[in-house]
Order: sequence, then structure tokens, then C-alpha cells
Amino acid sequence: MIRSINGATVVAGVVGRPVKHSLSPAIHNAWLAEAGLDGVYVPFGPPADGFSRFVEGLRGGVVRGLNVTLPFKEQALAAADEASAAAEAAGAANLLVFEPDGRIVADNTDGVGLLWAFRNQAPAFEPGGGVVTILGAGGAARGAAAAFILAGARQVRLVNRTLEKAEAIAQALGPDVRVFGWDQVEAALSGADALVNATSLGLDGKTTLDVELHALGAAAPVMDMVYRPLETPLLAQARRRGHPAVDGLEMLIGQAIPSFRAFFGAEPPAIDARGLVLTALGR
Ligand code: NAP
Repeated sequence: MIRSINGATVVAGVVGRPVKHSLSPAIHNAWLAEAGLDGVYVPFGPPADGFSRFVEGLRGGVVRGLNVTLPFKEQALAAADEASAAAEAAGAANLLVFEPDGRIVADNTDGVGLLWAFRNQAPAFEPGGGVVTILGAGGAARGAAAAFILAGARQVRLVNRTLEKAEAIAQALGPDVRVFGWDQVEAALSGADALVNATSLGLDGKTTLDVELHALGAAAPVMDMVYRPLETPLLAQARRRGHPAVDGLEMLIGQAIPSFRAFFGAEPPAIDARGLVLTALGR
């Protein structure tokens, strides 16, 4: 269906750099079309040093809201006048809403997306009271650690190359977060109830994530935030060993649901968003 764009059309979008390969427009525009809503969702790629100028220019609600992706999530939180507890805990925002009175309100729905992915693909896993090991200490790892702590995890173990970054997260989130170097990865996996890869290893086609899962709890789900490729070597190893596998695409869809509500004031319609994105990914 071709929708007509007019002065009343609600505009939202995603801002990132690069933004060309973002799958969010495919998800949101399919939901808009199915729901018959007068809205459109577009990608924006301001210059690397132009994020705050771009966002300041949107005060007042010409654009209703933005999802924010790499490398702007921390700047997005800094640009906001108000932020949710999830965004404050994550130290980053993936959602900005431009209120008509000029305020910019930040939220972080990555944690919601992460837990939604676990609920869908590893329904037996209960984050409350469990021990979760996270590989990485970048923005995504911090968001994931915050989400598990807010969900009541007993302990979050961060494994990272640069220890100071993991220590800064532990400092921000409290004593239930413990820090490990890569030389201690086996100890970090030992008896854990879930594993999340939040490193960018493998994304550049040169590096690979090399981790052995034998120390992990037998029923522990394994999640990889990377979704290109969808079946990463880590997820393939997890499936071979009988662990439930949770993928990054499910997280991407999960974080889009509250974003859609915030932009368009409606529930996303019940269509097969995953099938749609898989088609966009060429599978
Ligand atoms: P980031 O801030 O750049 O962090 C990258 C992390 O990877 C850091 O912990 C970094 O360690 C580690 N790393 C990178 N290269 C490494 C190497 N050669 N050896 C060891 N460690 C290395 O990125 P991010 O925003 O957290 O994103 C991380 C991943 O999550 C990306 O693949 C992103 O696409 C994905 N993600 C997916 C979703 C989703 O919806 N599925 C949402 C958000 C993010 P150091 O600290 O030592 O540099």
C-alpha cells in the first residue's frame, strides 16, 4: 500500500552512522502500513560531529522521536532534558521523544528488547535470582548489565579486554556486578545461568569470538547480540551443546516495540516482523 505523506503525517526515525543498513525502517514502516497509521519512519545519518546540532534542531516535535544507534547513544542521553531509570542505568539512550513543549525525553529500550528475546527464545530462563555472564563492557554490555540488575539478577559477571571499562560499569551498577579479564573467562562462565555476547568481535570480518562453553551451566541460554550473521559461531556452538540460543534479531525487534508505542501511540500490529526482517537480511 502506498501511503500519502502530508502535513499531519507523524515522522519518526533512526539516527546513526552508518545508518544505511539499519533494519528498523523495515520493521516500523511495516507495522505502520499494517496498522493503517498516518506515520513514516526514516533513517538519518548526520555527520559524526553533528549529532547534538541535529537533535537540537528537532526540539518542539517536528519529528516525534528517534531511535538512536551507534555511535550516538551516549550523546543522546546527554542531549536529553529528562531520562528514564533504564537510560540512566545504561548510561545511554536508544530512544528520544521530542515533546511539543520543547523537552527532549530519553529512554533505553535495549534492555526491554534483551529480556523479550530471552522470554521468546529461552522461556524457561528466569533472570531474577540468577547469575549472568556478559562478554564485553561497551554500551550494549552496560545496557544489558543494567537490565539484568533491574530484573533482579543475583550477580552479573563482566568479561572484558579493557578492565577499566568493566570496572566503571561495576562502579555505576553496584556490588552485584563483578569484573573478569579474558584470562579468567572460564571462572566467569562457571555455573552461570546465562551468557550474553555483547562484544563487537566478528563484526569486522577479521576478529573472531573464541570462547569454550564447557564451564557454563548445562541449561543456561546463550545469547549473541550480533545478528549479522544471525547464526554466529557462538550460537552454533551453544546449539551443538544443547543450550537454548537467543539471537540479536529478536532483541532488535523487542526494542522496537516500546519505541513504536512512544512514537505512534499504538501497539505494533501482530504481523511476522521476524520473517520480514529475515527477508530484508536476504534469508
Ligand atoms: P562498543 O561500545 O564499541 O563495545 C565493543 C565491545 O567489544 C567492547 O567491550 C570491546 O572491548 C569489545 N571488543 C571489540 N574488539 C575486541 C577485540 N579485538 N578483542 C576483545 N574485545 C573486543 O559496542 P556496543 O555498542 O557495546 O555494541 C556491541 C555489539 O552489540 C555490537 O555488535 C552491536 O551491533 C551489538 N548490539 C546489538 C543490538 C541488538 O538489538 N541486537 C543492540 C545493541 C548492540 P574493549 O572495551 O576492550 O575495547
